[in-house]
Amino acid sequence: MSNNKPMPVATEISAPFWEGLKARRLLVQQCGACAQWLFYPRRHCPACLAPDPAWREVSGQATLYSYTLTRIPTLPDFIDEMPQKLAVVELAEGVRVNTTLVGLEEEQIRIGMPLQPVFAEVDGKGTRLLRFTGLAQDATALEAPPLVEAVAPAEAPDSRLQVDCQDQAALQALVSEQYSDWSNSLLVDQALIDAFAELSGDDYWIHTDPERARRSSPFGGTIAHGALVQVLQSRLKLALGFEITGFTTQINYGSDRLRFPAPVPAGSRIHARARVKAVELNQRGTQLTLEINTHVVGQERPSVINDLVILYQR
Ligand SMILES: [Zn+2]
Repeated sequence: MSNNKPMPVATEISAPFWEGLKARRLLVQQCGACAQWLFYPRRHCPACLAPDPAWREVSGQATLYSYTLTRIPTLPDFIDEMPQKLAVVELAEGVRVNTTLVGLEEEQIRIGMPLQPVFAEVDGKGTRLLRFTGLAQDATALEAPPLVEAVAPAEAPDSRLQVDCQDQAALQALVSEQYSDWSNSLLVDQALIDAFAELSGDDYWIHTDPERARRSSPFGGTIAHGALVQVLQSRLKLALGFEITGFTTQINYGSDRLRFPAPVPAGSRIHARARVKAVELNQRGTQLTLEINTHVVGQERPSVINDLVILYQR
């Protein structure tokens, strides 16, 4: 994730708004003469021209007035937020705020939907931006900066649940809708992408030519090959809470499903999580389907979905 995103620069007039956000309070100006609410911050009331509107704390209760999804980043630095969910949000007081929606999938967004504020932390200095999310979302959880480099602690082998590859009931109990914790994270830089381009022969410019990609790629820069991100799975230690035992051979049988829903821009860190999707005992052995989702750190949408089928034979 890039740290070069533009940050708000408080002016004498707007400083109370930004200071309010730091304290997780939403302050909006109201004219003392005609009671008109105003946003953005100004020195005079736009309705009656009276000077020095007062700052008042408001609830943040709001509805979605309009929005757009940008599939080309507004600046290359925003590539980790694709698609950006740019919105105009109307506060209960009637003023409209240009903002970003967070914690919502595209299909959850509806004009007129009620929203709540998210005081999103964007740096280590206490700077917060005003974003919005749906009422059903956990706004507090969305406040934390997305770049938390959680490195999964190396699991002691004996702390994991041991499951025999013939124990049908224990195997079925592993099947879950819940994903594991995140794996360690790994940097996907241009050097790694170039090495894979040479190895695979896929040296298409969208992967290998940063200058051209900056000018012409919809992603604002080079991206990793989907196949590269898929094989980097081997360098991510999945935080699975179990170990299969009692087999002599473990075979990578292939994938039931392999998708690349989101790009991995050069310079991103990736991590992965997994869940057991299915287990089947058949004449070939014990067939376990592991859904492994690899994400750019901080991204909700996975970059690789791989339903990997592993075969255990005695
Ligand atoms: Zn006024």
